[in-house]
Amino acid sequence: MINEDRIWQRLQSLSTIGHTEAGGIIRLSFTKEEQQAKDLVATYMKEAGLSVRIDEAGNLIGRKEGKNANAPVVMVGSHLDSVYNGGNFDGPLGVIAAVEALQAMKEQNIETEHPIEVIAFTDEEGARFSFGMIGSRGIAGTLTAEDLHYQDKDGITIAEAMASAGLNPDEVSKAARKPGDVKAYVELHIEQGRVLEQRNLPVGIVTGIAGPLWLKLIIEGEAGHAGTTPMNLRHDALTAAAKMMLTIETEAAKTGTTVGTVGQLQVFPGGINVIPNRVEFTLDLRDIDEKVRDGVEERILQQAREICQIQGVNLNVELLQRVPPVPCSELVQSAAKAAFEELGYEIFTLPSGAGHDGMQMKDLCPIGMLFVRSKNGISHNPEEWSSKEDCGHGAIALYKTIVNLAIQKN
Ligand SMILES: [Zn+2]
Repeated sequence: MINEDRIWQRLQSLSTIGHTEAGGIIRLSFTKEEQQAKDLVATYMKEAGLSVRIDEAGNLIGRKEGKNANAPVVMVGSHLDSVYNGGNFDGPLGVIAAVEALQAMKEQNIETEHPIEVIAFTDEEGARFSFGMIGSRGIAGTLTAEDLHYQDKDGITIAEAMASAGLNPDEVSKAARKPGDVKAYVELHIEQGRVLEQRNLPVGIVTGIAGPLWLKLIIEGEAGHAGTTPMNLRHDALTAAAKMMLTIETEAAKTGTTVGTVGQLQVFPGGINVIPNRVEFTLDLRDIDEKVRDGVEERILQQAREICQIQGVNLNVELLQRVPPVPCSELVQSAAKAAFEELGYEIFTLPSGAGHDGMQMKDLCPIGMLFVRSKNGISHNPEEWSSKEDCGHGAIALYKTIVNLAIQKN
């Protein structure tokens, strides 16, 4: 019932919009490329029999009515914008698969109790303004006038960019939906990791979206001559930092779910023959269980302080951001599990380490996600790839999941 060829051909057509010399995609929000992508998808939505509109936040929405005009809507979608030199699947697959699911419903004459809306959110990635998920914030009602002051690298604000795209920034609050008006939000997305590939599975059900906790650790020791300072008289900030990094690795691994990464490291003064007196490094800790994540943080910092005492160095910790993880709802997960059972797919669940629009929708409605296998786990890169067959498996799983959600009378 799902037309794999149609999905694939539409993905190929979209990939020509904003194509870069480096072989990737660039579709920043409120640019003509993003508009072209939305225009093209609007034609697909119409083919699927949907009524199409752009809301006040620039979201492209295609709607199929339900048997009960007052029933809350089931929303399904993803985004069409990209990072700089991104891939063809991150975002577009979720939108195209959702349109395909609705087109299949039309072709099969399937009517549902609840209305269904396919949505292509404005600016999920945040590549242009370093502030993302603009469209989903708009729908969730959390996009503020202050948010619209974020600027791109040319000094253009979100409000100005919206105006140039024909939107009225003073009206974004009208994009907000009321809790109770939306039954659930479901998104199909590429995994952007290697878990499904390693398990040799085309699709999986997402248990939650991990929230990043970002810290900066600053260690201050004492500089000294590398040749004349004996080992027992040193207060080396870098060896202290190195021990902390091993602690991070050990403590994160112990949980089986938390991931911890040191991505930035600076060593001062940075001379080959000088004992480092200052080290700064960042820590990115993620888990879909906030308690587990914060427990790991506590144990890491406790041990870091012990290391500092032994080494005779000082530690300062700066909080850069603490984003709460968002669990995927029982409602959507069980609808997806029923879908997988009907299809004879192995039910496999996994967390999302990357952020998605569902994080913004969490206070509006129950959310959930499905992941499609990513080749080599590569994403945000022209090498990003999911096979045509896997895209088809994802779309049919999404189709069944939406039908399960939309036919139920409650
Ligand atoms: Zn994405």
